[in-house]
Amino acid sequence: MDLVDSFGRVVRDLRISVTDRCNFRCTYCMPEEGLKWLDRSEVLTYEEIERVARICVEQFGVDSLRLTGGEPTVRAHLPQLIAKLAALRLPDGTKPDIALTTNGATLRNVAGELRDAGLDRINVSLDSLKPERFFAMTRRDELHNVLAGIAEAQVAGFSPMKVNAVVERGTNDDEILDLVRYGRDNNVEVRFIEFMPLDATNEWERNKVVSQDEIVATIAAEFPLEIMPSRGAAPADRWRFVDGKGTVGVIPSVTHPFCGDCDRVRLTSDGQFRTCLFATDESDIRALLRNGGTDAEIAELIKIAVGAKWAGHQINQVNFIRPNRSMSQIGG
Ligand code: SAM
Ligand code: SF4
Repeated sequence: MDLVDSFGRVVRDLRISVTDRCNFRCTYCMPEEGLKWLDRSEVLTYEEIERVARICVEQFGVDSLRLTGGEPTVRAHLPQLIAKLAALRLPDGTKPDIALTTNGATLRNVAGELRDAGLDRINVSLDSLKPERFFAMTRRDELHNVLAGIAEAQVAGFSPMKVNAVVERGTNDDEILDLVRYGRDNNVEVRFIEFMPLDATNEWERNKVVSQDEIVATIAAEFPLEIMPSRGAAPADRWRFVDGKGTVGVIPSVTHPFCGDCDRVRLTSDGQFRTCLFATDESDIRALLRNGGTDAEIAELIKIAVGAKWAGHQINQVNFIRPNRSMSQIGG
């Protein structure tokens, strides 16, 4: 049975945060210090995550599982979770697509193992190709490792690789073309993300958002672009380079929200079910998991939450309320 919300949108994608911890401190996501980590006992075990994913895949036909965080690769034995998820089957017998969003810092060591465990796709976050700026944005001197990690993932068979770059005015907006060139030269699809009001330190301001229109105009002035067919439920609008050298994307969450086509739901690392990144309420799946809840009860909680999913976020309205958790705590 499909999971359909009251606006007729069908849920197909479950984003699973495996940890709230991270080895980076990106300025647009986390404070330098002071974010309180969840106690380990609060975080779902791999068996608990697998159970929720199984219900979504087997009962509701969810065909895309994306692992995120925090930084998913800092959680021990991640390949074990991937192997469990890769063994799940949709009602028609097919395997769900399994993806990972990572900062890439440890990828050079684990890419092969992740592939062997059944991971299908990797998105790496990379906002600057300049070592000092990379350090300023992530508060870690890891650019060389991230670039090596992307290359290693390609060797391990992840293709096409995608790179996500958050663009912040006055910080890295002068690197849009350099990142595009990097993508074109390395067979990587770069996707620029509009800066969203989900930073932990509340420094988001509208004038720091570089809009999709500006990003596309900057790229097209140097590399002529051709829009690709509609994105459907995917968050990125995509263009191909007219000279045939690859594709580029933009995730315009602020200036062109794509809520009307959203097919996503989220499970936080502490077992809260969310129907939107910007939701201000959550449903406590962990309580059911740990107090003898049956699969039917968990499925019912998911159905009720999806039934109450809102039409979309309100970033562009005066009544916008920031969620009380930041990106790394929700799972981006
Ligand atoms: N640590 C992993 C990573 O960085 O890829 C996964 C989690 S991270 C929260 C997921 C994505 O959210 C990353 O691509 C990151 O750049 C993006 N992100 C974090 N804070 C953001 C913000 N305030 N606005 C837009 N994107 C943001
Ligand atoms: Fe960590 Fe990813 Fe947030 Fe950066 S964006 S601090 S890598 S969770």
